[in-house]
Amino acid sequence: MTFITRFAPSPTGPLHLGHAYSAMLAHDMARAAGGTFLLRIEDIDTTRARPEWEQAIYDDLTWLGLTWDAAPLRQSDRTTAYTAALETLWTERALLYPCTCARKDIRAALSAPQEGATPAFGPDGVIYPGTCRDATRRAGPIPTDTALRLDMQSALSAIGPTPVAFTETGEPTGRQAKTVTCTNLISEVGDIVLSRKDFVGSYHLSVVMDDAAQGITDVVRGADLFDATQIHVVLQRLLGLPTPTYHHHRLIRDDQGKRLAKRDDARAIARYRADGATPQDIRRMVGLPSLF
Ligand code: GLU
Ligand code: ZN
Repeated sequence: MTFITRFAPSPTGPLHLGHAYSAMLAHDMARAAGGTFLLRIEDIDTTRARPEWEQAIYDDLTWLGLTWDAAPLRQSDRTTAYTAALETLWTERALLYPCTCARKDIRAALSAPQEGATPAFGPDGVIYPGTCRDATRRAGPIPTDTALRLDMQSALSAIGPTPVAFTETGEPTGRQAKTVTCTNLISEVGDIVLSRKDFVGSYHLSVVMDDAAQGITDVVRGADLFDATQIHVVLQRLLGLPTPTYHHHRLIRDDQGKRLAKRDDARAIARYRADGATPQDIRRMVGLPSLF
């Protein structure tokens, strides 16, 4: 079977060692399988993405010796497709509702019953308390000036009783079948945002639509996104999209064992380059065999 994978960075800061590991691993897996390695620029959040960071991504990946097999897909060019999917979920399925809550409203609603209790966090951030679920309209033209949330309970009913599952091939266990637990999605994920006030779509919507559009058979990405995969598989089922195989890899940590963040400029690839490191040094640092 063909193996098509991708590296999907957001151009909101410099690539660091963790990104380099993810990109090189996906690239190496594609090359080893005689498959295809693609690039996707996740610039859906136009308020944070910058062209200079996109250029820096191409420069760093090229310096690392990586080549990609087609022109990169840019999420900012995909709003027509995202809008069409949102229209279907709104008009035909009635599974979306507008949410006008500000972050502080959500926090206030969550802390009201038990003063001082910490709000529960899921893979989509704070679990939405449902304030707008029954209070806003779901008929008429799709609203374009508010966030749109997926009514998770209704979405799971719409999917029906066939189990939602995916194959995971990542460390440490290797190939394994995973089943999505629907009750978990309601209590620990909740009504996720599928479109934002400031731009069409959301991470979860764009990632499943773009993986399908690029024909991705194997998603290779960091273990930090493992918990989001259950959301992605449900969205694939709702939208009639194929579910790829997932390979979640270990995260590269700093000397204190903390995960690297975008802000961690000390581990930016550009910094290592400027300090005279070679691509082989980078490979050694993240524990990957050299390319040649
Ligand atoms: N754009 C995401 C990130 O940089 C990756 C999305 C994915 O691989 O699914 O963290
Ligand atoms: Zn709301």
